[in-house]
Amino acid sequence: MECTLYSDSMKRFYGLFQENIQSTADCLNRIKRGISFLADELHLGKLDIRIEAPANIYDASGLSIEYPAYVYEGGFGSDTLQFPFETTEHGHIMITLAPRPDYQWTERDKETLRVFAMNVFFLSGRARLIDLTKKAAITDNMTGMMNLAGFMQFANAAMAGGNLRRYHGFRLNIKNFKYISQQISRRTDDVLRDYGHAIEHFLDVDETIAHLGGDNFVGLVKDERLDDFLTFISEVPVQIGRDNKTTGIGARIGYYDIQYSDTSADVMGYLDAATSIAKMEGRDVVRFEYAMLERMLRNKAISAMFPVAVASEEFQVYYQPKVNICSNMICGCEALVRWVQKGKIVPPMEFIPVLEEEGTICTLDFYVFERVCRTIRSWIDRGIQPVTVSVNFSKLHLRNPKLAEEILAIIEKYKVDAKYLEIELTEMSGYDNFESLSQFIADMHEKGVRTSIDDFGTGYSSLNLLTNLEADVVKLDKSFCVKIGSDDAKTKILLQNVVNMVHELDYHVLAEGVETEEQAEFLRSIGCTTVQGYLYDKPMPLDAFELRLAPGFSYTILV
Ligand code: C2E
Ligand code: MG
Ligand code: MG
Repeated sequence: MECTLYSDSMKRFYGLFQENIQSTADCLNRIKRGISFLADELHLGKLDIRIEAPANIYDASGLSIEYPAYVYEGGFGSDTLQFPFETTEHGHIMITLAPRPDYQWTERDKETLRVFAMNVFFLSGRARLIDLTKKAAITDNMTGMMNLAGFMQFANAAMAGGNLRRYHGFRLNIKNFKYISQQISRRTDDVLRDYGHAIEHFLDVDETIAHLGGDNFVGLVKDERLDDFLTFISEVPVQIGRDNKTTGIGARIGYYDIQYSDTSADVMGYLDAATSIAKMEGRDVVRFEYAMLERMLRNKAISAMFPVAVASEEFQVYYQPKVNICSNMICGCEALVRWVQKGKIVPPMEFIPVLEEEGTICTLDFYVFERVCRTIRSWIDRGIQPVTVSVNFSKLHLRNPKLAEEILAIIEKYKVDAKYLEIELTEMSGYDNFESLSQFIADMHEKGVRTSIDDFGTGYSSLNLLTNLEADVVKLDKSFCVKIGSDDAKTKILLQNVVNMVHELDYHVLAEGVETEEQAEFLRSIGCTTVQGYLYDKPMPLDAFELRLAPGFSYTILV
């Protein structure tokens, strides 16, 4: 055998690799094509390439490729040469060569073949790295699932093939994930991985799901499987501990029926809108509708206008009386914020969920709280007997370790008695911040500031919550009152027992949303004597409310 390393056929072989290698498969194909130029010169009977790689995050089952790159039609001799190489990912590449049946390789031939084998190793090793780099770009490191780039790649390929419209896009977020990971004695990453893999397992090969980070996922499911998918997603079984026990994990999901003209980017935008709405409205399943885009624009405008509105004092505090229905006397009030935009009042439900989503609600709550303290100060200065004013604080404040301190500093600034202030916190869903909630309530209790659990009965941890808190008041959500009118005997029994129980746990009870005399009468009959509702007064501006504080004022409604 001539010195083949510099031969024309060898140059033709390497010439095939001048263009970028795309993948391992592409590289092996080129080797197969190129070896035909060289086989005669090398007296080659056979060339096998074996590539092995251990399992890793990109290949859950590892890699094992057995590639016969060349076999001479006249067969091969038994004097094989094997060249093993180790790869950087702790895998192996084995290159096996055999001569033609009638040929015996010399020592010099073997040297040439060793150098050739090394080159084959470099080429295929490089190809493997290209595969890994490509996979890394579309793989989520935590779960080994696809990431957003992978999802876009899948969706773009479906779009290019005209198949995207066969799918429904979905985006989901695990419900109460913090609570779940606290309850399950497993690492958060493991729970997320199992959850994602359980969904992957449910999906067909031509469907997809990607992990976006945190507890957020996005994917595509075929139109005809949407209903089954939504049922599955409402309770995905995930292992709880080391034994085989599982728990069902729920999700908040936005979905969209992809249309012919939609691009992958459109779909992402629509899913974003649907999930945002789901979050803001506390709904589990939201189907995207085009009107939501307008709402999203409006929400963006609200966020943009908010700082300006605070600076130009567009937010006003309204006051809604709380009434003792036995004495018909006012016994407190709730401060409720109103945004007065060009003379028109924007109701809180239009902007509070937006500010909550951004966290800016905290600024607004403190703004209202400071206004209230200033008002109480002015009542005292003007000789008006104050009533306790309750102020709503978003649960987002519980992330602030200095919350109690900041509240007390404002009370101190206006030199008002803490007994005139009450902080309303909405009943939490789950135990997200239970520790900080109970600590905050205890701190307020110690300083004489009252606290109340607002909208009681709408969350799902109600009863448990009450046995562990030092709050003063439980405000029954207005949905209870609505049911009183319905003459439903069971609702009345339920309400009566809730009121009894809350009293026995040593809380004051207030019923919100009392609109009719019938409701007030029933509440009085079960011992719930403090109410708030349109039957007595709607929330009103400060000057109107101050008339209610005049000595001797009482309501004339008799129940
Ligand atoms: P909320 O704290 O439960 O306040 C009671 C809501 O019920 C008020 O709605 C009040 O106007 C309404 N309401 C009172 N009586 C009746 C009635 O008889 N019938 C009916 N249908 N409704 C009644 P509003 O003022 O629209 O506020 C809605 C929610 O916005 C509040 O619910 C509270 O969660 C939130 N909010 C209001 N102001 C603030 C604030 O300054 N900060 C925060 N974080 N949230 C606020
Ligand atoms: Mg409230
Ligand atoms: Mg309420």
